[in-house]
Amino acid sequence: MATNITFTMIKPDAVEANNIGPILAMINKAGFKIKAMKYLSLSKEQAGNFYAVHKERPFYGELVDYMSSGPLVAVVLEKNNAVADFRTLIGATDPSKAADGTIRKLFAKSIAANAVHGSDSDENAAIEANFFFSGLERP
Ligand code: UDP
Ligand code: MG
Repeated sequence: MATNITFTMIKPDAVEANNIGPILAMINKAGFKIKAMKYLSLSKEQAGNFYAVHKERPFYGELVDYMSSGPLVAVVLEKNNAVADFRTLIGATDPSKAADGTIRKLFAKSIAANAVHGSDSDENAAIEANFFFSGLERP
């Protein structure tokens, strides 16, 4: 069976609220295997580089400040159809629009502090995983 990977971060708001455990439990229950995991803080420069694709968006400065405001958990996940299935599991970017039972509906504080990241394509999953981890097989 073909499997592929996605990349997630448990963001600073969810770490601060002691929700690492509950979120990882939901991820495992949904069938994702943890391939790599790291607890760390990003500098402003690192957060800015990670989100460089959003440089022109109005929320970029706020997003960079927020993502460098405290520790986060970076995780590479494996599952068949990983990218799309993980986006379904986390729900919409804005938690007020996220479906019931999704991670963002349950744990997000706001559109910025929305508990988790999820890659939006196989290509970006590989780029994002390689940003945090070396020595991983490229999908
Ligand atoms: N974000 C924000 N304000 C917005 C849209 C997005 O602060 O109006 C933040 C939010 O933390 C989001 C991240 O920027 O998760 C990346 O935005 P994207 O549109 O890629 O959303 P995602 O893919 O995370 O659902
Ligand atoms: Mg995105």
